[in-house]
Amino acid sequence: MASSARPLALRAACSLRAPRCLRSTAAAARQEQPGDPTRPPPPPHPERGSARGGTGPRGTRRVQPPPPAVDFGDPREAFRSKSSAELVRALVVLRLCALEPLVARSRQLMNLSRKLLGQQLFEKLMKMTFYGQFVAGEDQEAIKPLIQRNRACGVGSMLDYSVEEDLTPEEAERKEMDSCTSASEKETGGAAQREKQYLAHRGFGDRRDRVISARTYFYADETKCDQHMDMFLRCIEASGGSSEDSFSAIKLTALGRPQFLLQFSEVLMKWRKFFHQMAAEQGKAGLAAMETKLEVKKLQETLANLGIATKAESQHWFTGEDLGVSGTVDLLDWNSLIDSRTKLSKLLLIPNMKTGQLEPLLSHFTEEEDLQMKRMLQRMDVLATRALELGVRLMVDAEQTYFQPAISRLTLEMQRKFNMEEAVVFNTFQCYLKEAYDNVTMDVELSRREGWHFGAKLVRGAYMEQEQARAAQVGYEDPLNPTYEETNEMYQRCLDYVLEEIKYSQKIKVMVASHNEDTVTFTIRRMAELGIHPSEKKVYFGQLLGMCDQITFPLGQAGYPVYKYVPYGPVNEVLPYLSRRALENRGFMKRAKRERDLLWRALP
Ligand SMILES: Cc1cc2nc3c(=O)[nH]c(=O)nc-3n(C[C@H](O)[C@H](O)[C@H](O)COP(=O)(O)OP(=O)(O)OC[C@H]3O[C@@H](n4cnc5c(N)ncnc54)[C@H](O)[C@@H]3O)c2cc1C
Repeated sequence: MASSARPLALRAACSLRAPRCLRSTAAAARQEQPGDPTRPPPPPHPERGSARGGTGPRGTRRVQPPPPAVDFGDPREAFRSKSSAELVRALVVLRLCALEPLVARSRQLMNLSRKLLGQQLFEKLMKMTFYGQFVAGEDQEAIKPLIQRNRACGVGSMLDYSVEEDLTPEEAERKEMDSCTSASEKETGGAAQREKQYLAHRGFGDRRDRVISARTYFYADETKCDQHMDMFLRCIEASGGSSEDSFSAIKLTALGRPQFLLQFSEVLMKWRKFFHQMAAEQGKAGLAAMETKLEVKKLQETLANLGIATKAESQHWFTGEDLGVSGTVDLLDWNSLIDSRTKLSKLLLIPNMKTGQLEPLLSHFTEEEDLQMKRMLQRMDVLATRALELGVRLMVDAEQTYFQPAISRLTLEMQRKFNMEEAVVFNTFQCYLKEAYDNVTMDVELSRREGWHFGAKLVRGAYMEQEQARAAQVGYEDPLNPTYEETNEMYQRCLDYVLEEIKYSQKIKVMVASHNEDTVTFTIRRMAELGIHPSEKKVYFGQLLGMCDQITFPLGQAGYPVYKYVPYGPVNEVLPYLSRRALENRGFMKRAKRERDLLWRALP
């Protein structure tokens, strides 16, 4: 009988395997293997010299040990940390996740089971199944054994307190509309000058809709934001206590009124668009952001012709130390004109190319809105300060495109402040975005110019269906790559760029956050080609708890820095998160025959 067809009960009964995860001999033996055995040695980089060995202190060349090989097809290694009971649970849960009707009604089924079984039995059932598979435990104490067990296998943790408010879609929609509309817009009943992409739309008010894995926060009031901050603080503290070199994740939509994120995003994107429009006028359309340079003289003429600023006024903008010294202005110089230091944006009117009218770049904030914005920044500051004190890296998650420019920009401000000695704050870049490459390259370049450490997590992006539907329905250009293949290309392009930079810089770190085995294999191969050794801890990997252990654990055993996103929280309060995780696995499991086969083969 084929192993995958053996009856489950029989397999479960015949084993009492205990989890064991000291560094395996197979992994240790492979560690000695010189280079990637499946590939020929890479050619030297044409401009930058030999590939192997990073740059040591004061530019000396370090001789690197050979890179460890990793085998993603060895079931023993993949599930070494799991007991037999856990293997059986994984098989059952992941199999159940592939059953469409069950998963589609998972919330209702969970509620019904709770009613029928009573709270205690229901909790037991959940812990034996879905909760046990995807959630580490109820609180910081309960999750310690799992964290320690993973650590013994070389797998770190990114703690994520996964409690989610259980709102109805109507409640979520109401909260969203209320918190995404400014007082002045409510007063005048409209937002004529706003771009529709950056306005709240009732049909998309429930931001959880069509989003499977990411947790979603809705604004209630400032007290609630303080509670979220306390929750993140506890997470950072637990991360600090759990291991060295740990991460903690936060979401900025939990920390303040989203209206500010929407408006600030709009300003940033209008400003960037304006730069590209002027580039087009200078015959420089279609270049990558970092290759587009405006000639200052022509730029001043355009600004004067548009009635935005006289030559004398704009002369003053471009006489700073960094601006315009070469007679050109790039997008980073341009962006610096609206950073918090110059406050120029408050004064600026920019043309709306459709109406031909000049419009204020930043709309008016009431005193209370201004305070709300400041409090959000203060909360971020409190979190980053604590993370720095405890040696925890703070990962700022990426969210929807109408918030993301602001989230990314605020994260960058934190990096400027907290990443002077090392990368404490990590930004997230979503490679399903058409602009992903520009976003990554601009931030790397800025970090280089200003001398701070760049830390990034690269993901494909979690909000695809919602983003595509919103763009189509509201009527703006879809910000996402049109196909999965193009997203893959974008991911590789961004990753390759960052890895090349890492080879020559001590100030860049990246987390490859993906369940895609090809992406992980590509990263390992490029690291070997570029001579980036895992022991340098410049390239991390990240997967979610309960998913893709066959990728995570072999990486950890081979000595690559790899982390699990570890959700935790009381059973009842993580149910919304759990049912969406089941939904995510529904799609995933259709492709994950390999994981199931490996699980079967791991059973004794
Ligand atoms: C540790 C960790 C942290 C994460 N943090 C974040 C975060 O902060 N923000 C966030 O948005 N996501 C985050 N994610 C989720 C991530 O963005 C992906 O949704 C998820 O990991 C699936 O992508 P993949 O690379 O693992 O697998 P794959 O299955 O290879 O990729 C699936 C992804 O490809 C993209 N895609 C699929 N079809 C198309 C198409 N037709 N056109 C264009 N693109 C397409 C989508 O982004 C889809 O989610 C995180 C994931 C992990 C593992």
